Amino acid sequence: MTLSALPCPNRLIRLILAGRTRVRSLRLGMRATLRGARPDDLRRRLDDARSGRVVALSHCLLNENVRHLGGATRPGALDELVDAVQGASVGICQLPCPEQQAWGGVLKRRVLRAYGSDRQGLGRVRRLLTPLFLAYTRWRYRQLAHRVAAELADDRGSGHRVVGIVGVDGSPSCGVQRSLDIDRAVGALASCDPVATDAAAFNERIVLGSFVRGQGLFISALSHQLRRRRLPVPLCAHDLAGELGGQRGVDAALQRALVR
Ligand code: SF4
Repeated sequence: MTLSALPCPNRLIRLILAGRTRVRSLRLGMRATLRGARPDDLRRRLDDARSGRVVALSHCLLNENVRHLGGATRPGALDELVDAVQGASVGICQLPCPEQQAWGGVLKRRVLRAYGSDRQGLGRVRRLLTPLFLAYTRWRYRQLAHRVAAELADDRGSGHRVVGIVGVDGSPSCGVQRSLDIDRAVGALASCDPVATDAAAFNERIVLGSFVRGQGLFISALSHQLRRRRLPVPLCAHDLAGELGGQRGVDAALQRALVR
């Protein structure tokens, strides 16, 4: 390009100013459009069938396939619980299974290695590793609880009501009122004979025999995260011992929370 082909400086300045004005008016236009698309306005305009109420259920209440081996009493979900939630027009948010996430997948392979280990002369190693295993579990559960609390906060920030969180009483991770003494339970499963045991004996001796009062490790981490976010959500529990004993039915506190 020759010098004569360039616009004169005055014309160049006018072109630049005109360009900036156009960009500014485009920005203003976009802001006006965004202002018109505020979520509250859109929600009113696009009103639909949602109830705006959700309940967070422990993973295995919808999928017993993640339970400890011998601990599933149903092929899949707890029908009576799902029916009660559906009947109350409440949406379901399925919590992650913390043991699946931290203990080696659906089968919880890291725990399976301990079955019968004392009988193979590995008791000392097992006793040394248990505190490390618990420290790792607490660390993973803190991360998980942080993520779940953020999701529940998003629900509330979106105008939904989280009517409750349903844990599993008797679980070392998801217990609300009752949990499992992990030290005692690991000791019992390390000394059991994995070849001779069956589901009923395993549940009787190791699960029901190790119950203690208090929250499980994941529910405890989640409660802490919810308090930090000032997000009060009622905690309810499904009774694992009752279920293993053949009971069917929905916890009364949960029924009340669903209709509140
Ligand atoms: S009680 Fe919690 S940790 Fe145990 S199987 Fe159910 S969801 Fe997983």
